Amino acid sequence: MKKKNVSRGECWINLIASVAAVGVGFYALQCAEERRIPFTGELLSRSAVPLERAIGLVMIVLGIVYVFRYVRMLRQMDPKGSNRNTGAGGGPSAETYYTCPHCGKKLRVKGGRGRIQVTCPICGHHFFAKR
Ligand SMILES: [Zn+2]
Repeated sequence: MKKKNVSRGECWINLIASVAAVGVGFYALQCAEERRIPFTGELLSRSAVPLERAIGLVMIVLGIVYVFRYVRMLRQMDPKGSNRNTGAGGGPSAETYYTCPHCGKKLRVKGGRGRIQVTCPICGHHFFAKR
């Protein structure tokens, strides 16, 4: 199941929204201290203050959690990082074919990078190959 198909732009928007949520949370807390309703400035009733405070705290905590989450997602989306993780730079096939210089048998070699040692399974000849 490929659930996480979020684009980089969406990630940034969510990140900014999370930062804004933290800011609004702090603002709500500040307003609760002054016992007034955010934005309108009307006085809060005594019973509404703890609620206002709770909403502020939840917004701050959730905002911080989401900020970290999206920062991590954006880091993973880094073009350099994604190439390394998915192996997209490794070419269409990880297999390479070589011909044994001793017996002429075709050998299929999986994985590896740079200079590798190949052992022919037919004649046991060792040779080095570049890839
Ligand atoms: Zn051979």
